[in-house]
Amino acid sequence: MNRRNFIKITAGVTAAAMTGCTTIPTRTENKRVVVIGGGAGGATAAKYIRKTDQSIEVTLIEQNKHYYTCFLSNEVLGGWRNFDSIKFSYDGLKKYGVKVVHNRATGIDPVNKLVTTQSGTFHYDRLIVSPGIDFKWETIEGYNESVAEKIPHAWNSGFQTALLRKQLEAMKDGGRVIITVPRRPFRCHPGPYGRASVIADYLKQHKPKSKVLILEASEKFAQQKLFIQAWKKLYGYGTDNSIIEWLPFSEGGEVIRVDAKKRTVYTEPFEDQHVGDVLNVIPQQKAGKIAFLGDLVDETGWCPINQKTFESERHKDIHIIGDAAIASPMARAANAANSQAKVCALVIVKALRGEEMVPPFFINACYSILGKEYGISVAAVYHLEDDKIKWIRGAGGISPMDGSPELRKREVLYAHSWFKNLTYDIFG
Ligand SMILES: Cc1cc2nc3c(=O)[nH]c(=O)nc-3n(C[C@H](O)[C@H](O)[C@H](O)COP(=O)(O)OP(=O)(O)OC[C@H]3O[C@@H](n4cnc5c(N)ncnc54)[C@H](O)[C@@H]3O)c2cc1C
Repeated sequence: MNRRNFIKITAGVTAAAMTGCTTIPTRTENKRVVVIGGGAGGATAAKYIRKTDQSIEVTLIEQNKHYYTCFLSNEVLGGWRNFDSIKFSYDGLKKYGVKVVHNRATGIDPVNKLVTTQSGTFHYDRLIVSPGIDFKWETIEGYNESVAEKIPHAWNSGFQTALLRKQLEAMKDGGRVIITVPRRPFRCHPGPYGRASVIADYLKQHKPKSKVLILEASEKFAQQKLFIQAWKKLYGYGTDNSIIEWLPFSEGGEVIRVDAKKRTVYTEPFEDQHVGDVLNVIPQQKAGKIAFLGDLVDETGWCPINQKTFESERHKDIHIIGDAAIASPMARAANAANSQAKVCALVIVKALRGEEMVPPFFINACYSILGKEYGISVAAVYHLEDDKIKWIRGAGGISPMDGSPELRKREVLYAHSWFKNLTYDIFG
């Protein structure tokens, strides 16, 4: 599928979501939707419900005053992008009439349809939960929430991203950065390799004797051929002078222990140890904590949903979107969360009106910027088949291996434009 068709389908999804605007029956008056989590999924859902039907009261419960995107946060780590450029406020949502409450949701009562927060309770007719991820701290000995304040994961953005950047800046020339990649599934599968690339670029420019070591808990990774091709071109990968080294599980890549004082990680299966000057330890992941408190997760640690409605398989009238939901084959990505949110918003408006849902499409696009003029991407379009999300064969696509330097350069521009459009769609 070419880019023009992809954009047409993308526009179609939004248009389908907006068909709800044409008639606004009074039946939905006094109906209350509460959204937990004002990230890529939750903020979009809150905005689109109000855009579609202004008679529905929408309350967004978000623990932070500002949202820092993970997407394109790797550029901040490379020093290519200003930290403030990934910071967004919730003022844009207020103009749609979304009531924004800055507080942490601490519980969900599915029987009485209540959300509790640190300072009060909120009644809902429908609840959307989009809390993102939490970490399985117990899978790495010696690593926990307080150690992460010194050894960042930077897999949630904000403080963590700023901390990792500061450590990279403070590192001496000749230092070693270690990035540890957990078992799948985790948020944004290409993310660690995009991160290794921008850090390698920063080291090449400013600390040329330094190296990046990636320790991988699996045998292969997303878009591996494209990444390796870029690393060979840009960072000497495969030569004695390579800035990047990558070790898969079979070569001792899975981290099981961290010694923060010694700045050392210990790996399986050979009980190797690696000392780094900057450690970026990314632990295994699961759904955000409130999903556990609300009894929305199954034994996988993620939330099972009806993929047609995003309604929880465990509790009625609660919908889960974004990284916390089991929406495979869709990736855990901001673009996917945004697309699911629009569909979920329309599902809820239609349900509150007693109307039939239209057949939805979903999209996702992920950009990785591997050098200042070197980008790659993967995009996919999905629909429902037998009430399950299915990838549409032949739609979407991945950057070609034989892409020209001009194409790689253009992909960086597309990535920046995608970021502007997506963040406007979420918060603007
Ligand atoms: C390095 C990196 C690069 C990435 N690059 C891309 C990319 O190029 N493209 C892409 O599409 N995706 C990318 N992603 C993935 C993307 O960031 C996530 O998939 C996306 O943010 C998921 O959206 P979400 O709504 O599920 O969660 P989030 O965006 O994390 O939002 C969750 C929100 O819920 C709030 N919250 C949680 N619990 C509570 C509670 N109890 N009470 C109140 N508020 C709560 C949090 O504060 C947060 O604001 C990347 C991720 C990383 C780490």
